[in-house]
Amino acid sequence: MNTEFTDRHSLDSKDIKQANCRNNASDMKSIFLKRGKDESLRRFHPWIFSGAIARTDDGIEEGEVVEVFTNEHEYIATGHYQVGSITVRVLSFEKEKIDTEFFSRRIAVALDVRKCIGVAADGNNNTYRLIHGEGDNLPGLVIDIYGKTAVMQAHSVGMHMDRMMIADALKAVMGDNLENIFYKSETTLPFKAELGQENGFLLGGSKEDIAIENGLKFHVDWLHGQKTGFFVDQRNNRSLLQYYSKDRTVLNMFCYTGGFSFYAMRGGAKLVHSVDSSQKAIDLTNANVELNFPSDPRHRAYAEDAFKFLDSIGKKDDSPLYDLIILDPPAFAKHKDALRNALKGYTRLNQKAFEKIAPGGILFTFSCSQVVTKDNFRNAVFTAAAQAGRKVRILHQLHQPADHPINIYHPEGEYLKGLVLYVE
Ligand code: SAH
Repeated sequence: MNTEFTDRHSLDSKDIKQANCRNNASDMKSIFLKRGKDESLRRFHPWIFSGAIARTDDGIEEGEVVEVFTNEHEYIATGHYQVGSITVRVLSFEKEKIDTEFFSRRIAVALDVRKCIGVAADGNNNTYRLIHGEGDNLPGLVIDIYGKTAVMQAHSVGMHMDRMMIADALKAVMGDNLENIFYKSETTLPFKAELGQENGFLLGGSKEDIAIENGLKFHVDWLHGQKTGFFVDQRNNRSLLQYYSKDRTVLNMFCYTGGFSFYAMRGGAKLVHSVDSSQKAIDLTNANVELNFPSDPRHRAYAEDAFKFLDSIGKKDDSPLYDLIILDPPAFAKHKDALRNALKGYTRLNQKAFEKIAPGGILFTFSCSQVVTKDNFRNAVFTAAAQAGRKVRILHQLHQPADHPINIYHPEGEYLKGLVLYVE
């Protein structure tokens, strides 16, 4: 095992102090809200913004579990404290200890949900999201499962501090179905919290595994790959694409691991081109072709910028006219202030696709930016269609799958949206 990784057995003294203190509810520090600022909490919204807080106990450390009270000193919630605009992420609206048993209870419910939607116990799929932050009442925590490996990401300091308890809880709930836990929070934790290099195994040490999604195989590199190693959230949308692929000439733009490409090949596409600006993504896509369709001449991958590639269509002699295009770019807006530019970006990208797609073509177009609403996105695509002067029908409106649930009290949890369009 790489020694720079966090070792399961080398908890530092801060972790141990933290773990012990969480076993004693009476140790919890308190936060008091301004008068009237408890309204959203009464509707179970799990975030408390800094502007809602009247006063806090002295010496609260970042990541600590705190109890929250109304201005009238009535208990209202327990959550992780963090410096920043979201000051508390609520773990519970009932007075309870935040310990290994708490996390076990939450993870067990989440696992039941995955069993109920049929992703957890299916030989054709070994890949699913087990914990989706607020959607599973664990704000700041993401856990994806790849076979016998869980990849865990903390998006808050509190979840980072509690990572050992969460790992214990996860192992307790999953039992023999889990052999490795890889903790991958290097890029998801707030930079200012100065928590140091934090990627590493908390259990086991397997460095690579094969994700199986609807019977297709993918190399997952959770050490160096993007996000937790694979985009688990496009499973259903990739399946839908398969049914539109027969005899089509397909362009999978922003392909990463090549996910959509293999569904197109299985669906009987004539030709599939996968494009990504990252050479690593293209190498991964080519390795995945060998796993699923060894030496299949229908597939080619290009390490190129999406905008440049779209511009070049029709200009080179050997450039085919695509009649099925997938646009699944990275989030163009990570924050509200970037929204306007992001919408312009979606319009520009989709306009290029509308200009180049063959008559009778199908466009699968997505946005995974949380701050871009369904209506925003649809408007941006509408503008693109109008500017390209094409007749366009909406065939399907797509979204995130059921293993990325949305907490009904937290509409911000809805992030993935897509449209399937027929371009006359
Ligand atoms: N569709 C993929 C996920 C896409 S993630 C799937 O099904 O798994 C977004 C991808 O876009 C990343 O792999 C990233 O390398 C790539 N990317 C980012 N900017 C790009 C650009 N300007 N041109 C082409 N690819 C880009």
